[in-house]
Amino acid sequence: MEEILRIEDLHFHYGANHALKCVNISVGKGEIVAILGSNGAGKTTTLRCVSGLLGKPTSGKILFQGDNIISKKAERIVSSGISHVLEGRHVFPKLTTKENLFLGAFRKDRSFAAGLDYVYALFPRLMEREKQEAGTLSGGEQQMLAVGRALMSKPQILLMDEPSLGLAPLIVKEIFEIIKKINADGVTVLLVEQNSKAALNVAQRGYVMVTGEVALSADAKCLMQDESVRKHYLGEG
Ligand code: ATP
Repeated sequence: MEEILRIEDLHFHYGANHALKCVNISVGKGEIVAILGSNGAGKTTTLRCVSGLLGKPTSGKILFQGDNIISKKAERIVSSGISHVLEGRHVFPKLTTKENLFLGAFRKDRSFAAGLDYVYALFPRLMEREKQEAGTLSGGEQQMLAVGRALMSKPQILLMDEPSLGLAPLIVKEIFEIIKKINADGVTVLLVEQNSKAALNVAQRGYVMVTGEVALSADAKCLMQDESVRKHYLGEG
């Protein structure tokens, strides 16, 4: 399979805290890949390194379509085709739904209208609420808006950090259906989730991180059957 993203021997420090210790992750074009792990394992830090939000990591390579992006600025990374849905649904609360989507687009021309049509088809509720201030949307709608905004830049790969966090079960189900739909439309997805079961249900492959390192990587089906994964991450056994 053609590789779209490769994280190679990645190290990252927050001051003296060695948060990522030689992380290696590979994502194939068109895949959904999940990163699982307990709190503090380094999942968010990994995604933030890819999208350039933390500045230059200590060492390692991040290859996007073969190009090492490790020193690139976040704006250049997003314009090259990597979009990041941050943990905690960061929408601009005083702007309307449509204005939030407008901010996600690069070109405010006809491609904005096409992007908007796509996002509204995925999330009809956002269209119904396009004039509503984002801060007054429900938690689920804000998450949809955060995902929709990330899609407005027409990414090739979408990094998603805990998209289901704090949402009601029905909305969680909807979010995972949307992830499958986005992927079926050709977008590769790298997904960080505490809801490991739901993540492994949509992903083809998964990585388990433990204290800044990849402890295990396998097909999602194998991970679901792995005894330690079942015990520690799926709440079984
Ligand atoms: P969670 O699910 O809790 O977000 P995570 O797997 O995403 O966990 P990270 O948030 O990447 O883990 O954290 C990895 C390590 O880096 C932890 O030890 C954490 O305390 C530390 N860390 C994270 N953000 C910062 C920061 N801004 N400054 C200093 N240390 C940080």
